[in-house]
Amino acid sequence: MSSSDSDSDTSMKEAQDKGFVSALDLPDVPSQKLPPHLELRKTRVLCNADAPVNTDTIQYSGAYASMGVDNSLRLDHFSNNFRVEVTRLTEEEMEFDMVGINPAIANAFRRILLAELPTMAIEKVLIANNTSVIRDEILAHRLGLIPIKADPRLFDYLSENDKPSEKNTIVFKLHVACERRGPRIAVKSDELKWLPNGSELHKASEGSNPNAKVETYTSFTRSQDSLPEFSSNPVTVYPDIIVSKLGPGQEIELEAHAVKGVGKTHAKWSPVATSWYRMLPEVVLNEEIKGKKAEILKQKCPVGVFDIEDLADGTKRAKVARPRACTLCRECVRDGEEWEKRISLRRVKDHFIFTIESTGALPPEVLFTEAVKILEDKCERVISDLS
Ligand code: SF4
Repeated sequence: MSSSDSDSDTSMKEAQDKGFVSALDLPDVPSQKLPPHLELRKTRVLCNADAPVNTDTIQYSGAYASMGVDNSLRLDHFSNNFRVEVTRLTEEEMEFDMVGINPAIANAFRRILLAELPTMAIEKVLIANNTSVIRDEILAHRLGLIPIKADPRLFDYLSENDKPSEKNTIVFKLHVACERRGPRIAVKSDELKWLPNGSELHKASEGSNPNAKVETYTSFTRSQDSLPEFSSNPVTVYPDIIVSKLGPGQEIELEAHAVKGVGKTHAKWSPVATSWYRMLPEVVLNEEIKGKKAEILKQKCPVGVFDIEDLADGTKRAKVARPRACTLCRECVRDGEEWEKRISLRRVKDHFIFTIESTGALPPEVLFTEAVKILEDKCERVISDLS
């Protein structure tokens, strides 16, 4: 044996004595499969008591090439794994699981929903009279934020050079007065009355020709209620939004023009109250937690993730009953290292619990399908620009 061989044997022994493990001593893993610790790093965020780790997504296609694992993005792999499952659906809210996608795509859907899906919102307010305590500009701002139930897909955008017509504008009027001797009244959103023939306010005419045609602020060629797309009248989604309060003798008379726009121009056009996602929680008990400790663990969790089960020998054991409810508050791993060792809190990196809260202009499921179409259009634009 040469002196260099004996040196390397000695240093290996020293390393083993110190607790280091040689790569050659790791168990064999089949080709095309990552060893468990790398699989965990690739697919889970580990939520330790102090901070989450492994939050990045490993996108480099050759990241695991030395282990014979292909990490490239493949269309067939995506279409085999991707799925959407709706877990809750009401008129205003939808929760669904989106599985098998990258966080960047989930975030793209969220941003499209917030900023790029059009709706109709009040943009121009013509105030004929306002003696309320609310100033004109605040009143106009409040009116703009009232959600309008009108399908934006039926309307055109109103550009700078366009005239307001039946295809790009919805006109409402609001005229409320509080009697001089009456009590104070609240002006609510249901006071906005739809004008299917367009504006009724006359523009001030130039000159003094009495035969000149009276002009209004819109140029409708026909009534909107004669069009099939207006079979359900555009109304405000919620009838009881307070616009202003009027004291005795006060009055508001105005006309409000709603046009099509998107949330990135102004939040009033955003079709969602909010749209958000979280990764699927995974709560793992690393050891059996029995007896009093099981009771303590159950008490620690504020959202009831853990339950107690009775074993045949009469002892009680903690089990993870509702992992999806975990909010990652980390209460269960807080009291010292021993609890941190007992419980692993994780997030599945490619499983998103997505929630859409619609403002009511369009149902949430329609909003999502429209968001998919917008993302599709964007992808097609990129492909055509590149080719
Ligand atoms: S992190 Fe919070 S919510 Fe999640 S299991 Fe622990 S205590 Fe419950």
